[in-house]
Amino acid sequence: MHSPSAQVNGKIGPLMDIASLMYPHVTRTPAEYEKMYPPRQLEPEAMVTRFAPSPTGFVHLGGVYASLISKRLAEQSGGVFYLRIEDTDKKREVAGGRDEIITTLKNFDVSPTEGYVDVDTEKGNYGPYIQSQRLEIYDTYAKYLVEKGYAYPCFCSEEELAEIAAAQERQGVKKKGYYGQWARDRHLTPEEVKAKLDQGQKFVLRVKAPENPGKVRVPDLIKGPIELEANFVDMVLIKSNGIPTYHFAHVVDDHLMRTTHVTRGEEWLSTAPLHLQLFEMFGFEIPVYLHFSHIGKMEGNSVRKLSKRKDPEAAMSFYTEVGYPTDAVSEYLLNLANSNFYDWRKQNPTAPHTEFKINPKKIGKSIALFDHKKLDDMSKDVIARMTATEVYDQVYEWANTFKPEFAEILSRDKAYAIKVFNVEREKTPPRKDFVTWSQTYDATWYFFDELFEAKENEPLTLPDGLSADDAKAVLNYYQGEYDETEDKEAWTERGRNLAEKLGFARDLKTYKADPDAFKGHVGHLMSVVRLALTRSSTTPDLHEIMQVMGKERVSRRISAATHQIL
Ligand code: GLU
Repeated sequence: MHSPSAQVNGKIGPLMDIASLMYPHVTRTPAEYEKMYPPRQLEPEAMVTRFAPSPTGFVHLGGVYASLISKRLAEQSGGVFYLRIEDTDKKREVAGGRDEIITTLKNFDVSPTEGYVDVDTEKGNYGPYIQSQRLEIYDTYAKYLVEKGYAYPCFCSEEELAEIAAAQERQGVKKKGYYGQWARDRHLTPEEVKAKLDQGQKFVLRVKAPENPGKVRVPDLIKGPIELEANFVDMVLIKSNGIPTYHFAHVVDDHLMRTTHVTRGEEWLSTAPLHLQLFEMFGFEIPVYLHFSHIGKMEGNSVRKLSKRKDPEAAMSFYTEVGYPTDAVSEYLLNLANSNFYDWRKQNPTAPHTEFKINPKKIGKSIALFDHKKLDDMSKDVIARMTATEVYDQVYEWANTFKPEFAEILSRDKAYAIKVFNVEREKTPPRKDFVTWSQTYDATWYFFDELFEAKENEPLTLPDGLSADDAKAVLNYYQGEYDETEDKEAWTERGRNLAEKLGFARDLKTYKADPDAFKGHVGHLMSVVRLALTRSSTTPDLHEIMQVMGKERVSRRISAATHQIL
């Protein structure tokens, strides 16, 4: 810290006087806060990162993306990932917004270990972790800036500011804004300021930006150090209601919470020069920045940011409702962050994705396109790697919220439901048709008698070219002679023999060689059994389905189907 006073020759300087008038309630000094929030005792390479959302009631995919990267960077370096709620913009705040953020982070496995670790648990020595409870801290640091002559109160009304902007417009001033000669209140004498304060006039706190400051380099790990024009505008630091702007709160909070790496969206890059200026004025160590590119989408021929208004995929609630596994979303986002994730996954097909090390330097510098198909493909792979019990647990959890009647059925006979989800799961390559949990209902409903019953009495529409007599013959056969203990090979062989007996080819090849010689092939014939058992024309392996359903269910359904053949 710079030496904390403007005391001259033992007399209180005019700036000190003004600062005290502006912040009469401040009792602490920055030095005291420095002591309360000392540097963290971590290894030198440890990264302290954070997610700092506003509780707007909407968690954007970009937020979970940023959290995932921030959490991983902290974890893989032995650091800390914390959550700070930035609720200074009361107009944007939504009731329950804070809890929604915490719950979403939890659902997507990116919960912090410090800050709001749960809805009613704030943890850590660097809090409060919600900005509305830090006003005293901000005032203390604001007072300090006034004392040092780095900030001043501005009493301009909206109308006066509009006049300044209009004058700049009229005169064709290139650099617009409240600065230098345009900054009326920057030039008030201490006596004038005092007089206004004594009258109780409202003010905002503005930074006294250097004139013609030149260029500044923003230390950015993703984009490389970026040279930008330094800030020359006397930006507002504290609003007239005493609430800090993002800029001021960012600097004070990230310093006091000892953030080493500020991970945030690239929309903040343009104001980073102001932030660096403030860090310097305070004498704080400057953190490293990671400005993430946005996640975007093609619209016609151009790319645009994923929009909360237009794109359902922008909201995390979409992934929860549709039922993408958390791991699928994580893997997709990891791949978006570091495109080598894909190769890593190929080389480490069974490793948990938490073992993948994020390389911040490999994070894309430009907008990352959201690719729904890729997400779906990755989701299929993730689900294919799960055990049937894992699938059951996650489907059940999803259904509990979004399809309770399915959850109820799944819980009635858990062992049976797990067998259902195990169909074609243990073969190589395993079943890969599930993309989301919401699809599992359509893919498995027929296994469950409660759901099947409604269809059981509907007429059975036979596949083209199959006569009712042949259909009945094959159903009769399976009803009477289905042997549960038969393995796939023996079962197939028996099916082929039956086909032959009824005038069908025993396999497709034979049929194709001379189609006129047969009524059809074994597949045609067996489709009746499939229909009888599932009322669906495409299903996983029929032998396995019969095994899971068990002899009793198979013969019951086949018997019922026999009566539905017209
Ligand atoms: N509250 C800011 C936002 O929601 C946070 C930006 C940051 O991470 O510093 O955009």
